[in-house]
Amino acid sequence: MRHIAIVGSGPAGYYTAEAALKLWGEEVQIDVFDALPVPYGLIRTGVAPDHQSIKGVARRFEKTALNENVRFVGNVKVGEDINIPDLQSLYHAVVLATGAPRDKALDIPGKELSNIFGSAAFVGWYNGHPEFAGLAPDLSGKNAVVIGMGNVALDVARILAKTRGEFAGADIVEHALDALDASRITAITIVGRRGPHQIMMTPKELGELMHLERASPRVDPADLPEESADALLEPGLRKSVTHLRSFAAIPENIRGEAAIDIDFDMFASPIAFHGDDGHVREIELEETRVEAGRAVGTGKTYRMPADLVITCIGYRTSPIPDVPFDDRAGRFANDEGRILPGLYCVGWARRGPSGTIGTNRPDGYAIADLIAADLASKAIDTGSKQGAAGFDRFAEEHGITPVRFSDWQKIDAAEVAAARDGAPREKFVDVEAMIAAGES
Ligand code: NAP
Repeated sequence: MRHIAIVGSGPAGYYTAEAALKLWGEEVQIDVFDALPVPYGLIRTGVAPDHQSIKGVARRFEKTALNENVRFVGNVKVGEDINIPDLQSLYHAVVLATGAPRDKALDIPGKELSNIFGSAAFVGWYNGHPEFAGLAPDLSGKNAVVIGMGNVALDVARILAKTRGEFAGADIVEHALDALDASRITAITIVGRRGPHQIMMTPKELGELMHLERASPRVDPADLPEESADALLEPGLRKSVTHLRSFAAIPENIRGEAAIDIDFDMFASPIAFHGDDGHVREIELEETRVEAGRAVGTGKTYRMPADLVITCIGYRTSPIPDVPFDDRAGRFANDEGRILPGLYCVGWARRGPSGTIGTNRPDGYAIADLIAADLASKAIDTGSKQGAAGFDRFAEEHGITPVRFSDWQKIDAAEVAAARDGAPREKFVDVEAMIAAGES
């Protein structure tokens, strides 16, 4: 029997478990750990609440989770409740699928002012992540600034712009829905340090901005390169740029009808925040030009009102004691997923925060293949391991009470039962409430 511990129950974790089951069937026993009492990682706390169809992949992970040879071991913090050497003594392979849950810092003067949040925190807030449920952003100002030109920036801008009615069918948590309903934001500026040809936003997500009830996107035509230059772009980016061109072409009288402007401010690099009484009120930006693909400052600066700032500039993996970490890249130091003999990483923890949920499928399958190769070549210890039974003894000795998948099923049922009309669920936003629902 092969014993595998997967740390992290998000897409990378469950795709790896699925791949291991495909390889070894009943000859593998897999424990999927999570620090939270609930599974699915970014599917629950990262994917936008109004993108329910993306969340449908959880059904596939559930099938894996319900396999007899797979256990969910929730509410266990690896690195705190149990360390990596102990896990390695129990399992043949330990796979870190812990994602990249920390915000990459925007280290500029004024960053300590209040009402500036990283996207991990802000997205966590509206998605009910227990760590961020208490964030309480101040939405009473008119001007929100969203920094970054990726899909997370789009998610944040769209969520800030939507009406209560547009959240019908979404699993946005009640505290965020109420706060957004009372929001006074009328201008959302998406700031990008490079130009239209360098955006990371994908066409489908950009297109959604055209269908918002009370908000309209705005692009300065002067920021757009000659249309003929679009021909050289790869097709996805070309489609995204076509959306930007259509935003630039919206007539002023139509745009003027929208209660909320979503403005793209490109070729602008943040250099400082300014505030009063400790609260952010302005962002200072330096105009840039793109040289050899890089944003280069021109020395020309300007200020823009900013009562709320969300930085959506990427994420970092959280280090775990005893695991080599590449601080510059913000992820575990690894060679194609191998960290140390018997210790692997997968998904964002391996490659950084890129790609879609589906990108983690080949990633998970590749790690399972690596483990198979290392077992076959005896590059890792192939002797007998205690696996799940050994962990259960460890847990008992150390007073750890894991949340099992059957407990999650009760939590799930309670959330579904508490859903407001038309919504799929009302999430528990604190760990104690989750555990209590699991025990009921
Ligand atoms: P991303 O796509 O890498 O975009 C990050 C943005 O931040 C880039 O525009 C980058 O600009 C900018 N940035 C980085 N450092 C900066 C700095 N110091 N100052 C100013 N701007 C800075 O990352 P993301 O939006 O966080 O998304 C992460 C991954 O999740 C992506 O693969 C994304 O597609 C995926 N995702 C997908 C969906 C979906 O499919 N619906 C939704 C959300 C997220 P430069 O390019 O100039 O570095």
